Amino acid sequence: MSDNKDDNNKRKLNVFRLILLITLLAALTFGGVAIGMVVASVKDLPDLSVEAIDYNASTLIFDQNEKLITKIGTQNRVLVDLQEVPEIVRKAFLATEDVRFYQHCGIDFRGIARAAWQNITSGSIQEGASTITQQVIRDLYLTQDRNFKRKIQEIILAIQLERKLSKDEILELYLNRIYFGEGAYGIQAAAETYFGKDINELGLKEGAFLAGLPQAPSAYSPYQNKDLALKRRNIVLGNMLKYNFINKNDYDEAVNKNLGTLDSPASEQYPYPYYIDYVTEQLVEKYGEEQVFKGGLRVYIAVDHKIQTIAEEVLANDQNLPTKDIQGAVVILDPHTGYIKALVGGREHTQKRQLNRATQIYRQPGSTFKPIIAYAPAIEFKGMGPASVIDDIPINIEGWSPNNSDGSYRGLITMRTALTNSVNIAAVKLLQQVTAPEAKKFARKLGITSLDPKHDVGLSMALGGLYKGVTPLELAGAYGAFANQGIYIKPTAIIRVEKFDKTVLEDTSHPKQQIAMKPTTAYLMTDMMQSVINYGTGKKARLDRPVAGKTGTTDKNIDTWFAGYTPELVGIVWVGYDTNKQTYHYGGDYPAIIWRKIMSKALEDVPRKDFPSKPNGITTATVDSKSGLLPGPNTPPDHLVTDKFVTGTVPNKHDNTHVLVEVCATSGKLVNNYCPDRITKIMLKLPYTVPYYVKDYEQRVPTSICNLHGPGTSSENGYNQNNGKLHNLDKLQDLFDKIKKNKKED
Ligand SMILES: [Zn+2]
Repeated sequence: MSDNKDDNNKRKLNVFRLILLITLLAALTFGGVAIGMVVASVKDLPDLSVEAIDYNASTLIFDQNEKLITKIGTQNRVLVDLQEVPEIVRKAFLATEDVRFYQHCGIDFRGIARAAWQNITSGSIQEGASTITQQVIRDLYLTQDRNFKRKIQEIILAIQLERKLSKDEILELYLNRIYFGEGAYGIQAAAETYFGKDINELGLKEGAFLAGLPQAPSAYSPYQNKDLALKRRNIVLGNMLKYNFINKNDYDEAVNKNLGTLDSPASEQYPYPYYIDYVTEQLVEKYGEEQVFKGGLRVYIAVDHKIQTIAEEVLANDQNLPTKDIQGAVVILDPHTGYIKALVGGREHTQKRQLNRATQIYRQPGSTFKPIIAYAPAIEFKGMGPASVIDDIPINIEGWSPNNSDGSYRGLITMRTALTNSVNIAAVKLLQQVTAPEAKKFARKLGITSLDPKHDVGLSMALGGLYKGVTPLELAGAYGAFANQGIYIKPTAIIRVEKFDKTVLEDTSHPKQQIAMKPTTAYLMTDMMQSVINYGTGKKARLDRPVAGKTGTTDKNIDTWFAGYTPELVGIVWVGYDTNKQTYHYGGDYPAIIWRKIMSKALEDVPRKDFPSKPNGITTATVDSKSGLLPGPNTPPDHLVTDKFVTGTVPNKHDNTHVLVEVCATSGKLVNNYCPDRITKIMLKLPYTVPYYVKDYEQRVPTSICNLHGPGTSSENGYNQNNGKLHNLDKLQDLFDKIKKNKKED
């Protein structure tokens, strides 16, 4: 490396002759600038020590206990002797990269002269005539920068290398080091990756294909662009013909053949493949492929061996899923640190860096989105709580009439009941109160970044109807905030990254904590989501320890979800088809069962623990479950509910929804003057009417007057006299008390 140069190095003597040579050459090429440049170049010339050539510059991935999990990059490099590389394959490389390799002294003067002429005529540095030796030097010691100083250093070192190693040794070094794309380093790994063969099994067309790759491995990859890959191979064949490495017959035969590559690149097996893929992807995004695959980084990740293995096994097991070809994804994280304990992006892993359903697919979250976009914001911003009352009746919002999944309407219910049974109307009404912009702000604080500013604006968001959707990982982060008393921590896979020399590049062992909601909001959400597990749609996720969670099933049962947590771990499970086919199942079945199977094993040795006890600012009160107000004079005992409130949100008004009404004993409608049998009932009086199929319709004050009884032919009189009027409450109080007493005895 350029830092460890040794000024007293003996090789400097030899170098002087070279300086002279190169000075001349440079002077010829670039005019008078050269001398100073050359001197400067020599001053910090990297130390050429062939003994120290490091083939093993792969990035090392460790767990938190510094145990090596795998390597990325050079793990897919298998060294070969030059003798194993067929003659025809070698010739393909020589024809492509350096046809006079065996004649020149490390630099190709004829090539340089030609390149120099081009540079002079074009006025800038174009691609020079880099020999294979120069390419090795560049790969080993220098950056890919193309400035004059680097170029001069490259030339000096190339000539030095030719003095230390034989031509064959240099070619061997070259073939073992270069990058062939698809994670393959060196020619043997490339042969395996593209053809599933050993290098000594390759012939002309395979050799020509491989020789075409190093110039632009991804552009010429058959997995990126088959036509371009074929074109490139044929250019190599053309060069081989031009330089008489093959004859016209060989050429004609090979040029008409297809590539013969595997349908998809052969993969290397490595542990926790989806997790490692995700880590690799993040590293590449931040540090670039060069650094990650060649730079020898040391990376510490948050994976939990046990939980990751359990999650992979449960998802891979056909018995845990409805069909063989259905897919799934799992993310498990520790909500208190944000560490991703397990990440599985599919039921099997067949190909390096393949589609990762845990981090790369955006699917509709369905009802798992309700807590994020409707319930929690209603508590946070609107002073609502588990005992707040919503009327679950048909609605029409600018032509949109959402349904409940079972097709029924429950009438007046509490928020807790609504969430427990995943009532759609309730979520829509809550979002309507919160308003979409406020709710979106809230969701963003929970790490939901995929909301579309233009399209995700309507109330259908309450049901998880999103333009793009969310990833399981995103959802895990959001539920993490509920599980972590309102503090959001971005899900973290990579804890620390060091350079090869252990210089720390990043350290997220203390991840950033952001307040996403009040602790009281998180507490009430956890409390309500426990009801989902104990009494509602999430029953199949029950464990012998506290669990909170929410199921999700999208339109036509395409996406099915379970999002849940214990005091220790958050888990998100998605089950669905890659093709958006119907699953015919619900989030409450397969996803909930998978969740339970993973969690029960993951926590088998962890002592049972309760969710955090209630924070300051939570009180308990008893209210009327049909109005959400304090019990009124007519509230019957079975309409009393005791639940938790954020202090200050306990209503101070008393219920006036329950009223005493005299109805006709025969028709059940409001009495007229002619009804012979009348009864007085406690009924619900609301300022609007609801359709008969709403479940508490019978409890609501009738909207019409008895038409069974009347003065013979004409009943008009009776109608007019008593139209909609309710009886005086005071008069009927004693009657009411009797009814109340009877109810108690039931
Ligand atoms: Zn009547």
